[in-house]
Amino acid sequence: MKKQIAGAAVAALFVAGLVIWLVYGGEYAGESPSDLENIARRRLAEAGEIGGATRVKTGDWLVDTLEASLHGLETHPSNGSNWARRRKLLEAIDVPINARKNDAWRRAVGSVFRRQMDKAITEISTARITGGVRIWRMYNMGFVVKSAEATVGFDIHPGWVFDNPMDEAQQKRLAGALDAAFVSHWHADHCSRPLLKQMLAAGKKIVLLDSVAKEFTGENVFRIPGKAALPLRVAGVSVYGYTGRQFPTARNNVYIVRMGGLTVMHQGDNDKTPLYREIATEHKVDVLLGNCWAKLTTCIEGVSPRLTITGHENEIKHPSFLRSGYPRTFRELDDAKLAPPWGDGPQVRVLFWGEHTDWPGASV
Ligand SMILES: [Zn+2]
Repeated sequence: MKKQIAGAAVAALFVAGLVIWLVYGGEYAGESPSDLENIARRRLAEAGEIGGATRVKTGDWLVDTLEASLHGLETHPSNGSNWARRRKLLEAIDVPINARKNDAWRRAVGSVFRRQMDKAITEISTARITGGVRIWRMYNMGFVVKSAEATVGFDIHPGWVFDNPMDEAQQKRLAGALDAAFVSHWHADHCSRPLLKQMLAAGKKIVLLDSVAKEFTGENVFRIPGKAALPLRVAGVSVYGYTGRQFPTARNNVYIVRMGGLTVMHQGDNDKTPLYREIATEHKVDVLLGNCWAKLTTCIEGVSPRLTITGHENEIKHPSFLRSGYPRTFRELDDAKLAPPWGDGPQVRVLFWGEHTDWPGASV
């Protein structure tokens, strides 16, 4: 019986994928390489980044778009006031990231990813946070949150498909900087066995579903749902876990962590939306690490955070028709009127790999 249900679920997913493919086909479906180059140029021009003064151009639009967009993002950091400019820059960098995969693409995107991760890991190791939290966007739904009392990672994944994913030395450095690593669910784009091993080897804590990766044992392994009453105390912070799901097939923990005087929530790939009403009755969420494709605005409406940071854009191992990039995120935010000028409602930040943003503690 179980097998039949699993078979039906796989068939349903296949049909759903086929329909999406036929109807949607992905952000850049049918665009030729020269079309992509033109889209990238137009977006860069709209962002004011074309013909920038001193940067060396390689003549390869893939590399030049990545570098020009990155330069723009560095000079217009995510602090809530650069929305329109950053939107164009993120939509521009979206084009080379989603270009056809070949060796040149793997090199170019891999080198940017590697550089961004190196920068973030160094910042995570050295930043001194005295109030509130600093949040770094890593690969996919990967985030690191640092407060005065702890540094925790969610769904840290080393990146893949391109050259230069986070290597062993980088993962070791990151594990050294983290106090705890949370895994929402055991899908390959959300977890990394090598990183979790590095965490445990360094005496750090890991938090995951009760039914997965049973080889991890010991006092530093926390499992939710589990026998222990919530909240758990993990690395000096209070942790609440709500077990939802992704599609009908996979359980997914939504984590609530109290740190820096704030309540931080990580959505994982959860699409069981009734969970958010339950969470809202029990917590006042300050910072939501939200998922760009998993009913993001329903989640925002459900828990009413003060700040949302979007994640899961450009999980580039997903086929293009199942991948969600920056343009789609901004369209959804537009539709929900989640864009500046910020009133009393939730603010949103959209970050690139390795970028960070700050959110002050309640008393500031
Ligand atoms: Zn995912």
